[in-house]
Amino acid sequence: MDLTGRILDIFNKIRLGPWSIKYSLWPVHIVTACCGVEFAHVFGPGFDAERHGLLPMPGLRHCNLLVVEGTITRKMAKHLRLVYEQMPDPKYVIALGSCAISGGVFSGSYHILTVDEVLPVDVYVPGCPPLPEAVLGAFVKLQEKIEKKFPREEKPQPEYKIREELFRIEKVERLSTNEKLVTLVIGPQHPGSGHFRFFLVLDGDVVKEAIPDPGYVHRGVEKLAESRHFIAVIPMLERVTLTDPANVTLCYVHALEKLLKLEVPERASYIRTILAELCRIGTHLYDFAILSIFLGHSTGYMWCFELREYICEIFVRYSGSRHAITAIIPGGVRYQLTKDVISLIRNVLEKLEKGLRSFENIFLKNAAVKARLCEVGVVTKEDAIKLGMVGPNLRASGVCYDTRKVLKYEAYPEVDFEVPVMDEGDCYARVAVRVREIEQSIKIIRQLLDKLPRGPIVNPELVQLCREFGLDVSRPGKVLQIVSRATLPRGVSCARVEGARGLFYIHLVSKGDDRLYRLRVMTPSYYNLRGMMQAMVGYRLADVPAIYGSFGHFPPECDR
Ligand code: SF4
Repeated sequence: MDLTGRILDIFNKIRLGPWSIKYSLWPVHIVTACCGVEFAHVFGPGFDAERHGLLPMPGLRHCNLLVVEGTITRKMAKHLRLVYEQMPDPKYVIALGSCAISGGVFSGSYHILTVDEVLPVDVYVPGCPPLPEAVLGAFVKLQEKIEKKFPREEKPQPEYKIREELFRIEKVERLSTNEKLVTLVIGPQHPGSGHFRFFLVLDGDVVKEAIPDPGYVHRGVEKLAESRHFIAVIPMLERVTLTDPANVTLCYVHALEKLLKLEVPERASYIRTILAELCRIGTHLYDFAILSIFLGHSTGYMWCFELREYICEIFVRYSGSRHAITAIIPGGVRYQLTKDVISLIRNVLEKLEKGLRSFENIFLKNAAVKARLCEVGVVTKEDAIKLGMVGPNLRASGVCYDTRKVLKYEAYPEVDFEVPVMDEGDCYARVAVRVREIEQSIKIIRQLLDKLPRGPIVNPELVQLCREFGLDVSRPGKVLQIVSRATLPRGVSCARVEGARGLFYIHLVSKGDDRLYRLRVMTPSYYNLRGMMQAMVGYRLADVPAIYGSFGHFPPECDR
């Protein structure tokens, strides 16, 4: 036996190898879908995975743990495999979420694979998304596995022939013909882009052209909706934008209510509006956190995730779920807003107010942050309109348009609030408008809580119908039993609402069945995509993460 062999033998005998590898997990995480939202919380102050010795690494060459977060699409699979192949041995894989395991709510989609079709997996974590505690538990489980099975058993690798295909990127070949220009591919696994890919054509380090390549989280939501009961589409739509579930489902439910000619009780309208505003706050905080980490400002990241935890706590107390609350249904809401939840919301609003002021001081007023954001990624008012931008990004370019004011839906006509607008159109304005929007959301929620009317939270006709059919109506959410037996009348319906990142538009066609004949979902991140790409042109490569982060681009929302 040579020297290395003898050393390894000693290591094995005293089990030093397993011990040291067990406590040296260096994870790289691949945000393949919306599980990434919850995974980000795991590294926030609420759970603080770093206490378990886990420090996320941006580079693949020195990582030994790959954390796959959610849906694996066919388009993403080959990149996932490439990442895995670049990691040194021994390497481990943790797969998060029911989508990675079985396709989850998107099971049956033409564009979805399961993780074990692509990679060997050591620990699976079920859930949609898995709770942070479950994710931390998975790390411990993996540590135990490593200790027991050292040296690691060789597993047969799945047959997955992708390598040639990986390096055939037609767009790059086309763009690289000009010798003076360099084409850079960013994403779909990149600390500055998340699970989105785009091409930058550079002259030196100045961006000449930015070309998006979306579709890495395309899960075929619109097609799947054609084969499910129209009520089962609600949870699926929530996963389109996990940070803003109330607004997207509100839009869908509005379209259904128009077809079904269902009225909504006043109290339910108030609750819906409160949920929509809480989601707006939570989404803006998430986007601030991601922007902060893109800029290397980890305090901003921690700060926003701490504040966002409060919103998750409200949702848990209200619906039992931290993100996908599935509360808004045709004819009302599923859960009552109890006194406990109301008092929790009031407490959280106070904390948010204080926390937001501190965030402004540590982030928005920080000279280094200002230097990265001010006069960078400017989109003029004319361009913002021409490029079809929506939401806070549009308002940061001086256009005062807010669907809440225009359509006056739900309880918005009952409250006094302003629509923050700025003229600069730069990264700083896009962030500052969102900060002001959070202040307005706090104001709206307080007014709604003060005026919250008594009364039912679902349409009384639906409750009566349930009784006639002998169905249990002990809880308001039970009316779903009757709605889930309903068929839609023939017709076409559409709806718009102001989501946190901008306009949601839903168009549906019914042929008088219990399924939709056609569903079309337009999302704010998709509307803003052209504007975001345009905003990068003329700026330096180093400005790209700031521009990307300032738009709050959320790939699952864009790709649907
Ligand atoms: S739908 Fe659920 S399981 Fe699938 S990626 Fe999103 S959060 Fe994860």
